[in-house]
Amino acid sequence: MKKLLIQADMHTHTLASSHAFSTITENAKYAADIGLKAIAMTDHTNVMPDSPHIWHFRNAKRVLPNELFGVKIIKGAEVNIADYSGALDIKSSDVDWLEWVVISYHSHYFQNFKPADPRTVTDGYIKAIEDPRVDMIGHPTAIKFPVDWARLVPAAKEAGVLLELNESSIKTGKSPAPVVREMLSLCKKYSCPICVDTDAHFWSVIGSTPECERAIEEAEFPRELIANADFENIRSRILKKRPDCGI
Ligand SMILES: [Zn+2]
Ligand SMILES: [Zn+2]
Repeated sequence: MKKLLIQADMHTHTLASSHAFSTITENAKYAADIGLKAIAMTDHTNVMPDSPHIWHFRNAKRVLPNELFGVKIIKGAEVNIADYSGALDIKSSDVDWLEWVVISYHSHYFQNFKPADPRTVTDGYIKAIEDPRVDMIGHPTAIKFPVDWARLVPAAKEAGVLLELNESSIKTGKSPAPVVREMLSLCKKYSCPICVDTDAHFWSVIGSTPECERAIEEAEFPRELIANADFENIRSRILKKRPDCGI
C-alpha cells in the first residue's frame, strides 16, 4: 500500500451533488481500504445548480454514523461564497449543523462571470472568514478567483482558517503552477497551515494527491504545516469549535 501524505481527506463529494458519482458508503469503504482515518463529506450548498436540498446537510448529522468501516465520517459542506461581500449561501442557523465548513467561490452562480481583481476577491474571503465556524477556504488557487496572497495568508493564519491545496483543481488546470507556488511560498513565510485534499467526485481518487505532493516537494514546504497529515490535528481543530461533535 502506498504511503499517503494525508490521514484525512477533508474535501470529498457524494452523488448528493449530482456531478459526483459515489455514495458515502463507497467513499468510506475505499478510504478504509487505503488506510485513511477520516473523510469529510462536503457536498455543494444552495446556489450551485446541482446542490442537494438543505435537508441533506441537516439530516447527515442525524442519520449518518460517526464512523463507517473504521473511518471517521465528518459531516461538512462546501459552502459557496455567494458574492464578493463574503456572504455565504446558506442560513447562519444551517451552518451550525455542519461539522466542517469549507467555503469556496465557484463561477457557476455569478451572472455573466468575469474574473474580478485580486483585491475584490480577497476582500470577499477575508469577510467570509470572520465567521468563526469556517474551517477552510476551498481551492483558493483557482485562477478564476485571483487572490492577493500577501493579504489573505496572514488573515487566514490569524483567523485559524486553513488554506486548501486541492488535487483536483491542479489536475484539471484550474489552479496553475505559478499560483500554487505563490500560495505555498507565502504560507511557508507566515507559517500558515494548509490542508491537502482531493476534492474527489468519485471514490477511486480519494486520498491520492500526487500533484499536491509534487508542488510541496518543489516548494520545500514544511510537513508540520500540513494540517491533515495528522488526523489528531484536524480532530482537535474540530473539537475546539464543536465540543459535542462526537468524532
Ligand atoms: Zn469547489
Ligand atoms: Zn468540491
